Amino acid sequence: MKYISTRGKIAPIGFKDAVMMGLATDGGLLLPTEYPAIDRATLESWRPLSYQELALRVMAPFADDIPSADLKELIDRSYATFRDPAITPVVSRDGVHILELFHGPTLAFKDVALQLLGNLFEYLLKERGEKMNIVGATSGDTGSAAIYGVRGKENINIFILHPHGKTSPIQALQMTTVTDPNVFNIAVNGTFDDCQTMVKQLFSDIPFKEKHSLGAVNSINWARVLAQVVYYFYAWLRVTDTSTRDVVFSVPTGNFGDIFAGYVAKKMGLPVRKLILATNENNILTRMINQGDYSTGTVVPTVSPSMDIQVASNFERYLYYLFDENPARVRQAFASFATSGRMEFSDEEMSRVRSEFSSTSVNQEQTLATISSFKEKTGYLLDPHTAVGVYAALQSDEKDAEKVCLATAHPAKFGDAVKQATGVDPELPLPLQGLEQLPSRCQTMEADLGQLRAYVDENAI
Ligand SMILES: *Cc1c(COP(=O)(O)O)cnc(C)c1O
Repeated sequence: MKYISTRGKIAPIGFKDAVMMGLATDGGLLLPTEYPAIDRATLESWRPLSYQELALRVMAPFADDIPSADLKELIDRSYATFRDPAITPVVSRDGVHILELFHGPTLAFKDVALQLLGNLFEYLLKERGEKMNIVGATSGDTGSAAIYGVRGKENINIFILHPHGKTSPIQALQMTTVTDPNVFNIAVNGTFDDCQTMVKQLFSDIPFKEKHSLGAVNSINWARVLAQVVYYFYAWLRVTDTSTRDVVFSVPTGNFGDIFAGYVAKKMGLPVRKLILATNENNILTRMINQGDYSTGTVVPTVSPSMDIQVASNFERYLYYLFDENPARVRQAFASFATSGRMEFSDEEMSRVRSEFSSTSVNQEQTLATISSFKEKTGYLLDPHTAVGVYAALQSDEKDAEKVCLATAHPAKFGDAVKQATGVDPELPLPLQGLEQLPSRCQTMEADLGQLRAYVDENAI
């Protein structure tokens, strides 16, 4: 399988190189040149498979430069850290199916991809005799999933900056109680923006970047998308039988990574009638789908903070297909977006978008009301991100379809919002209880590039 860039300016590369490249060197995103077609008979034959067995079937054609036995071992190791033997179990309540993606080490769906990415990096670095220093900034959530993805791995050190005292206490503890020698937590006396600026400045110092092989773990790595494709197949197989009704998926969306994985599953032949894109008040993608209006606004903080995003980086991957795989059109759209802050679409393009997606923007009041009413009706506690998706699914007029809602976080991870909505303080799963009692390690520093550079220089592998 070869990978190309949405901007069309790199020569095709294999899977292993695509994982190591992350962002395409021409500024675009990497995509496979073709998609394996999964026919109905094959799909039916996959019903008895475990999550790990299914993952191997789905991923192998995309990662054909890794021997199958090695890929199997990487998959098995990546999901051994999950607390549920089904990895992503599906539960059904009140006419909807909840696909629980939060049984990994940090209680959010990003573990599904980052557990695999960490193992892939370790495998590829060893093969190449290389090392990597990952540097990233977090407002609280993704940082811990990245740290858990690479903790204890060989030839990788990770430096994660967070704004001191500005994450929730549990979020900070989830990061700082990881005391493996290759993990470096940095609490910056400043804001998340300060952290991000420091990281960007460090990466723009090319000699420094090359000296330490600086790497990133953001959501644009193709391997992350690929790992997420698996659970669309897994859920479809759980909620259908041979005489099946149609299936729709409702996906709480920020960066468009998770829902793009659903689009890939559909392209491979998974019978998905529609993808419901659910946003909070940060609704650029809902405005795009419903009104053809793709223009940025300012980020509004909400009770579903992991979706507080205005520019959805993975959306470029979908645009490539919407623009008939024409990289010149992608380049032109992003050039005009850079100057005018908006993008234009033809009527034909918009009708194609609406045949594949529908979208609802869900405000804070509706989110909290959904958590409360769902708890009352079913006894099940939704986290605020998941509640956005459940609201959108319940609103949607897709009749006679099985509705699968992706549950992207455990309710205890966003316990304050859940408590506000229901009065219930959701209990943390056992391994996360008593984090305050564990030893922790964290370096505090000023929002100062010089301090960061010296610290990374001293501790890089
Ligand atoms: C990251 C995240 C999302 C958004 O997923 P995208 O792939 O960025 O669209 C939703 N919910 C939770 C809990 C998240 O951590």
